[in-house]
Amino acid sequence: MNLSTVPAYAAPAPKAPLERITIPRREPGEHDVLIEIKYAGICHSDIHTARAEWGEGGVFPVVPGHEIAGVVAAVGSGVTRHAVGDRVGVGCFVDSCRECDNCRAGLEQYCTGSGMVGTYGATGRDGEPTQGGYSTHIVVDENYVLRIPDSIPLDVAAPLLCAGVTLYSPLAHWQAGPGKKVAIVGLGGLGHIGVKIAHAMGAEVTVLSQSLRKKDDGERLGADHFHATSDPATFQALAGTFDLIVNTVSAELDLGAYLSLLKADGTMVQVGAPERPLPVHAFALIRGRRSLAGSMIGGIAETQEMLDFCGEHGLGADIELIGADRINEAYERVVAGDVRYRFVIDTATI
Ligand code: NAP
Ligand code: ZN
Ligand code: ZN
Repeated sequence: MNLSTVPAYAAPAPKAPLERITIPRREPGEHDVLIEIKYAGICHSDIHTARAEWGEGGVFPVVPGHEIAGVVAAVGSGVTRHAVGDRVGVGCFVDSCRECDNCRAGLEQYCTGSGMVGTYGATGRDGEPTQGGYSTHIVVDENYVLRIPDSIPLDVAAPLLCAGVTLYSPLAHWQAGPGKKVAIVGLGGLGHIGVKIAHAMGAEVTVLSQSLRKKDDGERLGADHFHATSDPATFQALAGTFDLIVNTVSAELDLGAYLSLLKADGTMVQVGAPERPLPVHAFALIRGRRSLAGSMIGGIAETQEMLDFCGEHGLGADIELIGADRINEAYERVVAGDVRYRFVIDTATI
């Protein structure tokens, strides 16, 4: 096989529909793993990027995809962590400086040296633009490749590489568990996995969704309670209830209304990344010594810990498997909130 070019789906320009192209992939170096990608999840961040919603300056064409699951097809001579045939995953970044305090602490996503090198839309060590998982193959340094437990099928494992760790990390950091009341705002790709993980950690889980349309699903996924945020009574009934709220919403919300749902000393963690700033009234924090925090994906060791946790608890994403010719339609449906709960591309169709 000629490794120098592989097929992929790319956004050729901001807001243009994705189309099939071929892209270069480097020959695996000494510490590289060549992965035959089997499945790639569609994260809302892919859409924000393909549509340049996070500001100008994106690199186009861009091949999105940072929820990658596949099988090792070849390894460089110095690779010790992975072997041909292993089931592996790649998440949101493929490199970092490895030397700064954050990298040394396993917080590579917050690298202060080179910055984390995104799986797509960044520049790799070889000076070439990185391109993501909507493709048949990818070459990644072995230290940024994760092991997928045998108990998780690869298609439902793929979304764990971003959505899974993005929820696992704040839930673990703020100690969701028995005796803790946790709310997940938004039952989309991130939110639905958050419900599963928070439930498996032993927390009492509430979903705050725009309507009651997904109530049955929420309860099936592990929620103890389900409320509609379109109903003002929700905010009265739940005032001062939660130890932890994780906001996964991709659009602007009235943060103050949600902060009022925290107990004293409670924390609301922002993981949704909307286009525009979110205003906060000081009194929403002052009253009750409440905290507003943010969290971005998770480090390599924590991502492995999350995968192992999901393997032990039999957790994967609820997915709709699609062919590559339906990526543009899937984007429209994600934006319209019409996904239950993650689109995953069967890369054999690329
Ligand atoms: P998604 O599948 O589209 O889910 C977002 C959910 O938010 C929707 O299902 C909907 O839930 C709710 N929502 C959407 N629009 C809303 C509105 N106008 N008002 C209130 N609720 C609304 O997206 P996702 O893939 O889970 O990603 C969610 C966000 O997280 C995106 O901004 C993404 O870029 C970001 N993200 C951040 C990280 C990180 O590391 N921090 C990682 C991955 C993704 P209901 O129907 O239940 O209301
Ligand atoms: Zn993502
Ligand atoms: Zn670093």
